[in-house]
Amino acid sequence: MMSDYRIETQCVQAGYTPGSGEPRQIPIIQSTTFKYATSEDMGKLFDLEASGYFYSRLQNPTCDHVAAKITALEGGTAGMLTSSGQAANFFSLFNIASCGDHIVSSASIYGGTFNLISVTMAKMGIEVTFVPPNCTEAELDAAFRPNTKAVFGETIANPALTVLDIETFAKAAHAHGVPLIVDNTFATPVGCRPIEWGADIVTHSTTKYMDGHGSAVGGAIVDSGKFDWMAHADKFPGLCTPDDSYHGITYAEKFGIAGAFITKCTAQLMRDFGCTQSPQSAYYLNLGLESLHVRMARHCENGQAVAEFLAQRPEVEAVHFCGLPGDPYHALAEKYLPNGSCGVVSFELKGGRKAAEIFMRQLKLAAIETHVADARTCCLNPATSTHRQMTDQQLEAAGIPAGLIRMSCGLENKADLIEDIQQALEAI
Ligand SMILES: *Cc1c(COP(=O)(O)O)cnc(C)c1O
Repeated sequence: MMSDYRIETQCVQAGYTPGSGEPRQIPIIQSTTFKYATSEDMGKLFDLEASGYFYSRLQNPTCDHVAAKITALEGGTAGMLTSSGQAANFFSLFNIASCGDHIVSSASIYGGTFNLISVTMAKMGIEVTFVPPNCTEAELDAAFRPNTKAVFGETIANPALTVLDIETFAKAAHAHGVPLIVDNTFATPVGCRPIEWGADIVTHSTTKYMDGHGSAVGGAIVDSGKFDWMAHADKFPGLCTPDDSYHGITYAEKFGIAGAFITKCTAQLMRDFGCTQSPQSAYYLNLGLESLHVRMARHCENGQAVAEFLAQRPEVEAVHFCGLPGDPYHALAEKYLPNGSCGVVSFELKGGRKAAEIFMRQLKLAAIETHVADARTCCLNPATSTHRQMTDQQLEAAGIPAGLIRMSCGLENKADLIEDIQQALEAI
């Protein structure tokens, strides 16, 4: 069994086992549709009586092989790919929360997800209460309401680099009869497997480290198969009562604890929203996954070296990196990320906006990009890019000082990265 092997072996080989004479590499099934001999055969697929492919908006064999690999890496029972990380997070929440419901979320999450939950999902009638990622059990408990349907957080938050106390969040979610959904994009299953700490659903923007080369936008959702929907049937009617749009199937009955969540998500949300990943993108994603374990070790090593170097420089006001002993999230990082966190480091330059401008212009290896987590080192100054409409005072109030730089350390030699940073600091 592939699950008997260690994660490094699963990165390379899980999800696809060719038979004799079949392609060694996952085939790209570039076909929108699939042929059947009788309409009865096809009818069974539409009724979810038989499993198989009929239209690539719902499922495609290439995507399913890659989803199976990610499911194995996270230690889940079922998984699916989506067109992007945004789609993965939206589906994971909307699969169980609808108009009139409520979500509890860590406040320290990716800006796109924050906007999705606080603005767009609010328009759909789903409310949210945000809590700090390191809040006390009492604070967390107070955030729940009778109509709460899920708890959400990120293992390592982008870009704040806070670490979620997964065990505490899982315990609170389960005490209130709802699942914990964890976006594990920055840690990857090589660094942390949230399901082992009590998470029920894991999501990814595969666009980041999983792809790792900046080549394809994508997302993934993995179900742990541990959350007992039927035990909380009153909260989850979508899973526990008949679906009229699928001939009265009750997902939690027909597909059980291991398969209900992903089957419903595919059958309803993929059918109706169509946020599919293309087979070609899934193929690129799999190439990235084959070396994920090798690359993550180097990203972490480079991030750590750069953070340690920056921490002793006189031009630097502060460094935010949970791998540094003085960081407020260091203890949580040691617990959840014992093999290293990620390659993203953020730091504040003493000279504010002007110093950041000079520093970034001077860098030769690190490119200025709104991206993170790929093979090439890149950096961003929020004050002059993503947050440029804000004044220095507004930035300060939002916890994003004008001199803050987010650097995503790639796979280059760390001595070269440090020399590049050093010469740019000296130019300020
Ligand atoms: C980038 C990112 C997303 C959004 O993913 P896309 O693939 O860009 O849609 C979601 N969560 C985290 C933590 C991210 O870093």
